[in-house]
Amino acid sequence: GAKAAGRNTCRFYETGMAAAAAARNLLQLELQDAVQSGGFRLHYQPVIDLRGGAVTGFEALLRWPHPRRGLISPAEFIPLAEETGHITRLGAWVLREACLEAAAWPGTARVAVNVSTVQFARPGLEEAVVLALAVSGLAPQRLELEITETVLMGDSEAVIACLHRLRDLGVRVALDDFGTGYSSLSYLCLFPFDRIKIDRSFVREIGRPENAAIVRAVRSLAADLGAVVTVEGVETEEQLAFVRRLDCEEVQGFLFRPPVPAADVRALLADPAPFLASASGGDEGLSY
Ligand code: C2E
Ligand code: MG
Ligand code: MG
Ligand code: MG
Repeated sequence: GAKAAGRNTCRFYETGMAAAAAARNLLQLELQDAVQSGGFRLHYQPVIDLRGGAVTGFEALLRWPHPRRGLISPAEFIPLAEETGHITRLGAWVLREACLEAAAWPGTARVAVNVSTVQFARPGLEEAVVLALAVSGLAPQRLELEITETVLMGDSEAVIACLHRLRDLGVRVALDDFGTGYSSLSYLCLFPFDRIKIDRSFVREIGRPENAAIVRAVRSLAADLGAVVTVEGVETEEQLAFVRRLDCEEVQGFLFRPPVPAADVRALLADPAPFLASASGGDEGLSY
């Protein structure tokens, strides 16, 4: 009857939940193992200056090549690493690896490293940055830390003090994914960010006039605050034209390159031709 069926459904859910918990525990153990045994890789996505058309830097993005599951997305394992505390060690590895790699590049392209809120909440972040710079010999000005506004939401006085100490080292600081979550223009005034990265949701629907209005407002405020604007997630020529029209300085997105392995970065930097050919272009016929 219905009662029995209900009980079975219950049992089914319990089994399902137990399986999910077991899978999570396994993933957690594998994550720990990968952190300890160097099982991660960094890919790098170029950031392009719209005026000269050159690559000015790369964002380092974590990749976990998993023996059974292929490449696991950071969207899946970063939250797990944060919950388990492994992010501290993993984050320190990312900083060191990215700085070592960038120090070997020809030229002075910067490298951007994502830093999680949890890394700010635990000790060791400043030490990890200092160590990565010392070990690699990278000029601090070539390292940029990307933080999201959630970093500023908690104990923000301590975090802001920490950011100032990092900036005193010469390191640059970017506000990532701006325009998502609890975004408020007031975050832009809490710290003198070197860069504001506008979230890709704003270029996804370029037909919506409010998106153009918001990007224009952020661009204008950034200019007053002395920050550069990078627009993320540019996938089409149409989106590129939109970004040019709003006079943003830099772009990043699949239209140019997805994140690529370290070896491809050196080939990219060795090519002296401008990365983006029509650097001064602009489709005056289009309006948004
Ligand atoms: P994020 O820092 O905002 O990085 C940009 C994400 O957008 C990357 O996803 C990148 O591959 C993706 N992307 C770039 N261009 C395009 C595009 O044109 N279209 C679309 N649809 N996506 C694009 P990814 O590599 O999966 O990383 C996701 C997030 O995971 C990152 O977002 C960042 O928050 C986090 N993450 C990645 N690496 C690290 C790390 O080393 N440490 C920490 N704490 N977080 C990391
Ligand atoms: Mg980022
Ligand atoms: Mg982002
Ligand atoms: Mg993000």
